[in-house]
Amino acid sequence: MIKVLTALGLVDARRLLDNREISAAELTDAHLNWIDEIDEQVKAFITPMHEQARGMAADADRAIAAGEASPMTGIPVALKDIFCTVDAPTSAASEILKGYRSPMDATVVERLRAARAVFVGKTNTDEFAMGSSTENSAFFTTHNPWDLERVPGGSSGGSSAAVAANEAMVSLGSDTGGSIRQPAGFCGVVGMKPTYGRVSRFGLIAFASSLDQIGPFSRCVEDSAMTLQAIAGHDRRDATSAPVEVPDYLEELRAGVKGLRVGIAEEFSSVEGMEPGVKEACEAAYAMFSELGAELVPVQLPNAKYALPTYYITAPAEASANLARFDGVKYGLNIESDTLLDTYLRTRGEGFGPEVKRRIMLGTYALASGYYDAYYVKAQKVRTLIKRDFDRAFEGVDVILAPTSPTVAFKIGARVDDPLQMYLSDIFTIPANMAGLPGISIPCGFSEGLPVSLQIMGPAFGESVIFRAAHAYEQATTWHKERPALLRERADTTV
Ligand code: GLN
Repeated sequence: MIKVLTALGLVDARRLLDNREISAAELTDAHLNWIDEIDEQVKAFITPMHEQARGMAADADRAIAAGEASPMTGIPVALKDIFCTVDAPTSAASEILKGYRSPMDATVVERLRAARAVFVGKTNTDEFAMGSSTENSAFFTTHNPWDLERVPGGSSGGSSAAVAANEAMVSLGSDTGGSIRQPAGFCGVVGMKPTYGRVSRFGLIAFASSLDQIGPFSRCVEDSAMTLQAIAGHDRRDATSAPVEVPDYLEELRAGVKGLRVGIAEEFSSVEGMEPGVKEACEAAYAMFSELGAELVPVQLPNAKYALPTYYITAPAEASANLARFDGVKYGLNIESDTLLDTYLRTRGEGFGPEVKRRIMLGTYALASGYYDAYYVKAQKVRTLIKRDFDRAFEGVDVILAPTSPTVAFKIGARVDDPLQMYLSDIFTIPANMAGLPGISIPCGFSEGLPVSLQIMGPAFGESVIFRAAHAYEQATTWHKERPALLRERADTTV
């Protein structure tokens, strides 16, 4: 059987590779060629890694021939350009790190490398992961494969667009307030943000350290589970990575949702600016869970409405501290001036973009003596209340459903002049970050021809039950099989 190699999922690719019906070199070349053809339009990649990918594919083929393949061996993976890699520059989409070469790999990169995955490139992001559209990238904006005039979401928009456009089979992103789930939602792919501590953050360029978490993008739930399996687990180099055993995520995947208690929070049913098409598709998805045998249970999250304002104190405060290291001396850009202070000022003044500066100023203000108690400490207290709401809710339910985002992908440029409007795209994703909980975004319909997505949140370290619920819904629907027109034109191109 001849297949479009770039359309394969992990399970089929694994079988074909292990049976030697295709080689990792062929699979890699198919992806690299397609990147060459389509990425001019999508612009998912800051740094494609053709040469490195071909070398890694050759290694993968040798491992397969030696009977040493693991699930990720030979699989084309894209990496958000915020994970340190020794063999390609790491920029965080910032002028201040342009061309920066890390002396080490991030733990997630190291694990995938050890598994002999193939890195096809580093993907675009909002600068230092601050944004919801990739428009804050210092280099260019990524385009949504469903409609090239629209944003792919962000900040991991390059990673979501790459998977949606078949430029990579799976990819990794980071999610501080929604940066995996929201772009997955806008691009109609699966995006999983694990529990805080589930995946090591070592080698992830820090935005807000108490919130940042790494996770996968894929075109189906099973691929998401398999990719998370490869990167999850304790790492002594990240003090916040949890020494909690990683279960086999495929074990429960097919258990279905019969008898599962599924929470619906009134607080997530409607917010200002929510599009009716999104509301409708999500409500239909809730009903589908009931049809599949789950029990829908109302839950209360009264403090969830404070998550967004609390996040915009906590995240900038942590960012202002984390970004202090970019001073023109230790890393990246250096604009040498007469005095050391001028060197700092000029390097940071020219190296950081406007949104990053806004966050540094907001965060520095919130941490300033005299304001610290009123802002940062208060935000920490509210954060505890948000977490307690979830803890209480999860005493009675297995998962909680919500929309991923209140709107579908918006037009490029539509929100750049209105930061508050931009911040609102994460209103449904931020609560899980504040509580440290896992959540997945999966396709659940279309509105005006653009993907609408459902979010499934779970208790801490409850990724298995999330995958199980997501898989059951996915198998009962066909939304995830819809592909952007960009690819349909190519449906008869076989490799
Ligand atoms: N859009 C949110 C922000 O700009 C979330 C970003 C993220 O998760 N990295 O902060």
